[in-house]
Amino acid sequence: MTIGPDGKITDVNAATEHATGCTRAQLIGTDFADYFTEPDKARQGYQQVFCEGQVRDYPLEIRHKDGHLTAVLYNASVYRNEAGQVIGVFAAARDISERKRTEEALRLANVYNRSLIEASLDPLVTIGPDGKITDVNTATEEVTGRSRQELIGTDFADYFTEPDKARAGYQEVFREGSVRDYPLEIRHRSGRLTLVLYNACVYRDPAGKVVGVFAAARDISERKRTEEALRRANVYNRSLIEASLDPLVTIGPDGKITDVNTATEKVTGRSRQELIGTDFADYFTEPDKARQGYQQVFRESTVRDYPLEIRGRDGNSVPVLYNASVYRDETGRVVGVFAAARDITERKRAEGELKASENRFRSLVTATSQMVWTTDQAGQVTEDIPSWRAFTGQRLDEVRGTGWLGALHPEDRERAWAVWSKAITERSLYEVEYRVRRPDGEYRDFLARGVPVLESDGSVREWVGTCTDITERKRMEAALAQRAEALERSNKELEQFAYVASHDLQEPLRMIASYVELLAQRYKGQLDDKADKFIHYIVDGATRMQTLINDLLAFSRVATRGKPFTLSSAETALAEVLVNLQKTIADKGALVTHDPLPDVVVDPTQFEQVLQNLIGNGLKFCERTPLVHLHAEREGNDWLFSVRDNGIGIAREHLDRLFVIFQRLHSRTEYPGTGIGLAVCKKIIERHGGRIWLESEPGKGSTFFFTIPAQREVAS
Ligand code: ADP
Repeated sequence: MTIGPDGKITDVNAATEHATGCTRAQLIGTDFADYFTEPDKARQGYQQVFCEGQVRDYPLEIRHKDGHLTAVLYNASVYRNEAGQVIGVFAAARDISERKRTEEALRLANVYNRSLIEASLDPLVTIGPDGKITDVNTATEEVTGRSRQELIGTDFADYFTEPDKARAGYQEVFREGSVRDYPLEIRHRSGRLTLVLYNACVYRDPAGKVVGVFAAARDISERKRTEEALRRANVYNRSLIEASLDPLVTIGPDGKITDVNTATEKVTGRSRQELIGTDFADYFTEPDKARQGYQQVFRESTVRDYPLEIRGRDGNSVPVLYNASVYRDETGRVVGVFAAARDITERKRAEGELKASENRFRSLVTATSQMVWTTDQAGQVTEDIPSWRAFTGQRLDEVRGTGWLGALHPEDRERAWAVWSKAITERSLYEVEYRVRRPDGEYRDFLARGVPVLESDGSVREWVGTCTDITERKRMEAALAQRAEALERSNKELEQFAYVASHDLQEPLRMIASYVELLAQRYKGQLDDKADKFIHYIVDGATRMQTLINDLLAFSRVATRGKPFTLSSAETALAEVLVNLQKTIADKGALVTHDPLPDVVVDPTQFEQVLQNLIGNGLKFCERTPLVHLHAEREGNDWLFSVRDNGIGIAREHLDRLFVIFQRLHSRTEYPGTGIGLAVCKKIIERHGGRIWLESEPGKGSTFFFTIPAQREVAS
């Protein structure tokens, strides 16, 4: 449009008509300023043109007749007539609405982008082709510890632990257009390092020329830690699962196996790969029962000790008990079942063995001729004991508890119960004898024995008892005892008889001896040679008879005429004996020696007699110069005496019978004697509570041993 000096429009073009919605005719002659949203600004504008000759890009807003606005930039200049006088302003408006909108959009977009960039927690950076930073966001400031101002214009690569790698990175972006997950480590001003993954791409100007790189870093330190922790936790869980000797399996809601451990592989004979994704129920001898099992878990969250049998590949089945429970995801939704099987083969085997051993026990009970029963800890009969019932005629209900006592002899019940109760309290073996009544009324003697059956912890599980019929044994014992008693009695009678007989024989014998002596004296020289010889025989016979009587009296007196035991010196006794044997010793030129001998508690006369008999025999049964040696030593609670000689010895087969009365090995002419001496020794030693025996070798000599208890009360 053209405007006169008065500000009135002098001419317009079609574009003006379009922008204002007014015709040329309407416009010409009207005020220029009236067609703008800011008339004053418009007026100032053209006045400025008049003043300054021109204006450039003067912004105004044309208001259309219908109200809509068009932003324009006016370029205007004066125009002159031929004389050079300013006669008006020529003003050209450029419609800038579109440009403005674009600019606004751009501005908004920039704000938006900036916000995005700033809002990003990831460090973002733009880099020029020279590798210098052109812009950064707050996250970059934070991760580097440097301000935007400090960063912009500096080398991108400088902020990493490996600058070369960083440089190679953005060069790759320039070359390839982009990179993904390029790992770098940002170094903070303080030295702290941050592990990041860079995603970067080039950005271009409108002409498509690459002007820089836009790089976004993702901090993966935290993620890395989380991942590592998760990985470790998984490894740990896995190890736990693998370490389990029990077959473990996880099952999805569809009943398919989702995971297994090695134990499951082993028991099924199939690999993990083979198992995963297949039907859980397929690996059992009873698939339906298996299916019901895991369905029950899904329904009830858990099952305990669910018995199943795993079918191995080789056809062997393994009895197991399953414990299973559901497992859930983070939101609590059930995602599967975790099932652990316990192999109970061993347990089943043990149960089987137990059964077998119980059967064995039962067979034993049936087979044995003894009566066997079991009772509980309190001693109450628990076991059916047919043999007892058959014997006593008691009914089962009569036997139970303590009913068995009823079959015992009334006199024995209390004692049997006492023994029984004591054993139960002390948990020890018991033994008791009692009489048991048979249905016909006869009583039999029984020996009852019981032992506690102990649990592994030492407590009593039950008692097992046996009963043996000992009637016959008891009868035999009684008969034996009776016979022993009779024997003892007749022995006594015999001794008594021997004593009385010997004693009474002494008197007539003495008469014979003294009257023969009288005859011999009175008719000395008047009788013939033969008569002297006869008288000598009579005297000799009488002397020998006297010896026999003496020995017999000694023998029968041992028990009946014994004296009380007193502490006596064995050496004194020996000295006495040596005096008695003086003549024999001298005649034979014998030597009797001894080691120190102890004091002993004995009947002194009898002890002397033992020594005299043994030494006397040693001197008598000898073909050379007799050497007799006595020795005594302590052996346990006894004194052990020995009398050793160098005599003719005794053959082995005779050793035993020498101590029996009247046993002699030689003729009287060879070695005079009665055969009573050793029998007397034996009686005396036994009366003292000792033993007597001998060792001998024919031709070499004999040693007689006897013991005398060392500690004994001085008594009769
Ligand atoms: P006696 O001496 O009166 O014959 P004993 O009872 O003292 O009776 O001995 C029995 C027998 O034992 C003797 O006859 C003799 O044969 C044998 N005898 C005993 N002591 C000895 C001995 N020390 N050496 C060899 N034989 C002996």
